[in-house]
Amino acid sequence: MFPIDKFQTLRTPFYYYDTALLDKTLDAIKQEIRPGYHVHYAVKACTNPLVLEHIAKAGLGCDCVSGGEIEACIGAGFKAEDVVFAGVGKSDWEIELALKAGIGCFNVESIPELEVINEMATQMGKTACVAFRINPNVGAHTHANITTGLAENKFGIAMEDMVDVIRMAQQMPAICFRGLHFHIGSQLLVMDDFEALCKRIGELLAQLDAENIEIKSINVGGGLGIDYQNPDENPIPNFKAYFDTYAKGIQLRPGQELHFELGRSVVAQCGSLITRVLYIKKGAVKQFAICDAGMTDLIRPALYDAYHLIQNITSQTEEQATYDVVGPICESSDVFVKDHTMPLTKRGDLLAIRSAGAYGEIMASQYNCRKLPQSFAD
Ligand SMILES: *Cc1c(COP(=O)(O)O)cnc(C)c1O
Repeated sequence: MFPIDKFQTLRTPFYYYDTALLDKTLDAIKQEIRPGYHVHYAVKACTNPLVLEHIAKAGLGCDCVSGGEIEACIGAGFKAEDVVFAGVGKSDWEIELALKAGIGCFNVESIPELEVINEMATQMGKTACVAFRINPNVGAHTHANITTGLAENKFGIAMEDMVDVIRMAQQMPAICFRGLHFHIGSQLLVMDDFEALCKRIGELLAQLDAENIEIKSINVGGGLGIDYQNPDENPIPNFKAYFDTYAKGIQLRPGQELHFELGRSVVAQCGSLITRVLYIKKGAVKQFAICDAGMTDLIRPALYDAYHLIQNITSQTEEQATYDVVGPICESSDVFVKDHTMPLTKRGDLLAIRSAGAYGEIMASQYNCRKLPQSFAD
């Protein structure tokens, strides 16, 4: 399944992207796109240039959270009008860049931000399309560090301020108000949270109807999860269930648009971190497989307690053994998995750390003066 011969010629650690699987995933998404639906790839999951190009070619839009991402997307072939720009802290240079590029929509998260965008757009003689990110106070049943839609989170505008903020925007000369934006969290595998969001959106739309405020676009964010336990059995997420949930939960009016921002579900399964085992070390109570990739290459286990399936892709033996698979970094949290049973492993073996296409390479750091991981796609 992996091109092992090619792998043996590359310096480890590196990210491997299976572009055939990426394309199949993109096809599966495109099959679910209904009239009025617009899917933006949430670029922060992975900005590897080859991955970006495949997604741009598939015709998706993109969701950016920084000026750097906007530049990367335009460079990869995304159309500026298909870019949406989110984030609680947009710098002046990023707003200017977005206005110059002519992006489709700013997802605005506060009144001070709205004022700055209006000021800068006025100065530049441009109009900025905006949607307001509303905090729907819908709980996402996932890791605390990746819930974003609760009242206590820093994201978005409180529901009770929604009408006032829209009225304010409607008075601003350089602002074109488009609609509402939401994003409740990530790695959501049951549809309940998305259903709860639909229900909340219905309530907000009824409230806006009563105020005679027209909503041209609704953006429901991303968050669909993937199967980290069984990447080979479930390489493509259940997009049908996901889009069906929204089709059932939100009845669009004529001309109204429904936008989605999928990140992890688009790219996670097509990426693996490939690492070489440096040493097998027998400790007092544990046996360690020490590899040349560390938390600097893939921080998700250390940051979110995330599980990634690890496979020895070169071992020829049937014999099994149990290891803590760890990296070389001077931190106790530099552990990929504890008590993991896999084929008997020796120095020089290659391990594939699976489902690492999202929030993997892009989160790599140079801590310990390490080199950033390389990448290879085929
Ligand atoms: C991160 C993010 C997404 C994508 O989330 P996934 O869980 O990767 O699908 C979408 N929208 C916004 C605003 C985000 O910050």
